[in-house]
Amino acid sequence: MALIVQKYGGTSVGNLECIRHVAAKILTAKMAGHQVVVVVSAMSGETDRLMALAQQFSERPNPRELDVLLSTGEQATIALLSMVLIDNGCPARSYTGGQVCIRTDSTHNKARILGVSVAGILADLAQGTVVVVAGFQGVDNKGNITTLGRGGSDTTAVALAASLQADECQIYTDVDGVYTADPKMVPFAKRMAHVTFEEMNELASQGAKVMQIRAVEFAAKHRVPVRVLSTFIDGPGTLITHDEYNLAHAEHSLVSGIAYSRDEIKFALRGLPDKPGIAAKILGPLSDVHIEVDMIVQTQSLDYKADLTFLVHKRDLHEARQLVSPVLYDLNSSDLEISDSIAKVSLVGSGLRSHPKIASALFQILGNGGINIQLISTSEIKVSVVIDDKYLVQSLTMLHEAFNLGKEPKKVGIHS
Ligand code: ASP
Ligand code: MG
Repeated sequence: MALIVQKYGGTSVGNLECIRHVAAKILTAKMAGHQVVVVVSAMSGETDRLMALAQQFSERPNPRELDVLLSTGEQATIALLSMVLIDNGCPARSYTGGQVCIRTDSTHNKARILGVSVAGILADLAQGTVVVVAGFQGVDNKGNITTLGRGGSDTTAVALAASLQADECQIYTDVDGVYTADPKMVPFAKRMAHVTFEEMNELASQGAKVMQIRAVEFAAKHRVPVRVLSTFIDGPGTLITHDEYNLAHAEHSLVSGIAYSRDEIKFALRGLPDKPGIAAKILGPLSDVHIEVDMIVQTQSLDYKADLTFLVHKRDLHEARQLVSPVLYDLNSSDLEISDSIAKVSLVGSGLRSHPKIASALFQILGNGGINIQLISTSEIKVSVVIDDKYLVQSLTMLHEAFNLGKEPKKVGIHS
């Protein structure tokens, strides 16, 4: 018998038929003798619908009231799913985040989980009851409803799995695992049997949209084994654990996967004064308003000038331009180029740490393909390049093939 936390995302509970299907999957796990805690998202499109309602009143709705509104999406799903389970003879109880004491800070709309009290859940489980918890929500220390940011149900599931010391946290979604590259872009991409938390974290932050990044970090910190699986196709999915598991159980390729992002724009500032404090003057105002800046590259030229290039998310374009322009004016510099026809491609793999040649192989492959690299940045287990967006599919395909990522994955670990 294992204690399993299963999370079903919005598309998995998108209509009543899907909810029935999810109930059947939960029953199967139950029949196999497992104790099951289920976390669900709102039915697909519901959070967007509620958001749009609120935005009809105001572009920036009151954050506290927005959380009261958004949390109703998940509340509807827990009730519906529990009803179906009970009708099928499976004892089940639904709980909102507040009812199972998912305590968060008070940052409405993107709250962080501080702790979970699991005594009540354990008591239900001991009686053979399936516990169905609303994802994405909690309460602060004053009892205000909070939500955890888009995609936050993943974090709820991982936090519960950590507190319950569950054997596995299963993230059921509409894809059957984590792929070596986006299958929509690279048709021969393969599901990975296993990735490490570190790799998953890099893949997710470089654009792979399988799981919320915060959930991956949380799972890594609390050592919760996570499995990404499809609700609709049976299979072992992708297991995400720490490296040790990987070394002990499976052979691992040097490069695990390739991620890309088309969501960023490039700011290139040329001919800046080459003296102390300039980068801070330009980038400080962006960080003050929490605009994420990526791939910051500064170079000096011989004439006491410097060039500064960086990426920001497309949604932050206007705000970033408004913050950067006056600083440039102050510095008597007007050379700002903003380019949105770029793509960022990242190779991720634990093997990069010990094999520096992978980075140079990447440059060579793109060079052979006549693809110009605009920016390069590296971290321990990742190399990212910025290229012209029109070469994205070509570069993903070439890299996928050159690094031999299309081979069949090995099956690892337990799978309920
Ligand atoms: N329903 C929320 C959203 O759409 C949370 C989630 O699905 O994880 O972002
Ligand atoms: Mg989701």
